[in-house]
Amino acid sequence: RCVLRELTEIMNKNPDISLSNPLPGMNQSVFHKRYLKKMRDLGEGHFGKVTLYMYDPANDGTGECVAVKALKQENGHVPDGWMKEIEILKSLNHCNIVKYKGLCTELGKSSDPIYLIMEYLPLGSLREYLSKRKLGVPQCLLFAQQICEGMEYLHSKRYIHRDLAARNVLVENDSLVKIGDFGLTKYIPEGEIYYRVREDGDSPVFWYAIECLKESKFSFSSDIWSFGVTLYEILTRCDHRQSPPTKFFEMMESAEGQMTVMVLIKLLEKQLRLPCPKECPHEVKILMEQCWAADPSKRPPFSSLIERFKGIRQ
Ligand code: ADP
Ligand code: MG
Repeated sequence: RCVLRELTEIMNKNPDISLSNPLPGMNQSVFHKRYLKKMRDLGEGHFGKVTLYMYDPANDGTGECVAVKALKQENGHVPDGWMKEIEILKSLNHCNIVKYKGLCTELGKSSDPIYLIMEYLPLGSLREYLSKRKLGVPQCLLFAQQICEGMEYLHSKRYIHRDLAARNVLVENDSLVKIGDFGLTKYIPEGEIYYRVREDGDSPVFWYAIECLKESKFSFSSDIWSFGVTLYEILTRCDHRQSPPTKFFEMMESAEGQMTVMVLIKLLEKQLRLPCPKECPHEVKILMEQCWAADPSKRPPFSSLIERFKGIRQ
């Protein structure tokens, strides 16, 4: 109560602090399931399903739109990774990273957070967005730079993303994108440089750096490789005929029966890479190739990629 009185006082003295911008600590982040009205499905990936809801406690259609992510297979218990994804997103605060809004817990089971509530980005994933419209090169480069800015922030917090791809970038409007989906994000403790995966399920192998495929070693540098593939997707406007899996399978022609990952490793060891997209500026082509350097230490960090994009965009 005392805290509340103090807060009210602070708010009276600072009219800029509006109630729609609640102070941390005020429990605005619990969403009640009974006030969530389903609008439509937004999309799904390997692990989650995202749905658009209106959160409308007044029940008069004046509520706000939120994106709600639920795990696909929920068999009673809440998996560890899911709680981590929520905690990580909650701890991030950057204009190029999707904003965490709160949790929704099932009635009666108030201890088990099941739904992750985040801000709704009306234009969906970058993949859907790009394949629907003709985007000019300057806008492609702006988006690429914004992804780098979000990634630089993520790395500064010692997180590696491990699943950077156009499907996991969301579009707010024609000049703003944000990184979404932190389902595979891992924390790299101070003093260590990589994370080694044990479980090896549905991995987005065509976005993986060579050392991830060979030794399951994920690092800040392997995110840069995946950024290179994402940049390739942006410049091919996510045309499915030129998608990374399509192109790599074309390069693999005569390898029937062999394991995809093994063939992919051989290909990459021969220095074969995705082709240069049509109408890709020369400097961007060079930059993309540097992201795919076999030696992880030769790949440019996000800070230098940002500077390079700034230069190219001028
Ligand atoms: P998964 O972990 O299963 O890959 P994602 O978090 O990537 O799930 O979400 C799947 C899809 O849902 C995305 O590719 C995108 O199309 C859509 N989506 C996710 N979050 C949002 C959001 N905040 N606003 C709008 N669409 C979203
Ligand atoms: Mg995803």
